[in-house]
Amino acid sequence: MTAADARSRPGSLTVVGLGPGDTAHRTPAVSAALAAATDLLGYRTYLDLAGPFSDGQRVHASDNREELDRARHAFQLAAGGARVVLVSSGDPGVFAMAAAVVEALDNARDPAWHEVALSILPGVSAAQAAAALAGAPLGHDFCALSLSDNLKPWAEIERRLALVCEADLVLALYNPRSKARPDQFGQALRVIRAQRPADTVVVLGRDVGRADESLTVTTLAELAPAQVDMRTVVIVGSSRTRRIPRADGGCWVYTPRFY
Ligand code: SAH
Repeated sequence: MTAADARSRPGSLTVVGLGPGDTAHRTPAVSAALAAATDLLGYRTYLDLAGPFSDGQRVHASDNREELDRARHAFQLAAGGARVVLVSSGDPGVFAMAAAVVEALDNARDPAWHEVALSILPGVSAAQAAAALAGAPLGHDFCALSLSDNLKPWAEIERRLALVCEADLVLALYNPRSKARPDQFGQALRVIRAQRPADTVVVLGRDVGRADESLTVTTLAELAPAQVDMRTVVIVGSSRTRRIPRADGGCWVYTPRFY
């Protein structure tokens, strides 16, 4: 087979999750996919974390958040024969690129897109990494919710928050508070405080697995919106979540496995 033949076939598209930051938490499967890629796509910050790449690898960094456009671009390259890797932080299926990629395929008219060898490689998600630092706050039933209203109405977010609190699930909040929506986290807190006691344990993981990593254990009453930004994942405990002293003077947080 000539090189031209090889390039005329549909190639592959692999959607990978880098984990929260530290390369030690990146799976070997993801590292192998990154090394084998001819073309790498993703948000610039994540590609910087994923590199360095070799000279022969083409890096298509983007600064915009238009995920569906990025997914379509990835399919176009792969349909032309490239080995494409699309990079997400954490897990690609948790508020990240995997759903946009499958959505692009769902809407695809080009038959070559359906022949692309598509795979999705999981990664450690931010809530899992923050939970591990704190102990085991996700040790029993929990739910993950994004507070971003870019893709869903705010009223729906408040409704879900209220229902999750009623169900007494541990709550992992992604995209909690951005410069564009500085006040919504306060609104979310009002909804949660209306249902959960003031001494409910709250864990804040910021820049987990990165140089500026920090972990804060506080309570629902003490939590202030200013402590939270887009680099933070917020874990709000259930009525069962508790803390115990740790030898270093801090505490371990856990949610018991049984009632
Ligand atoms: N796919 C990612 C989530 C993307 S949404 C994952 O599975 O982790 C982006 C949100 O994830 C951020 O606003 C923040 O809430 C959280 N997040 C991502 N990386 C993080 C990290 N290293 N430390 C703390 N929170 C992080």
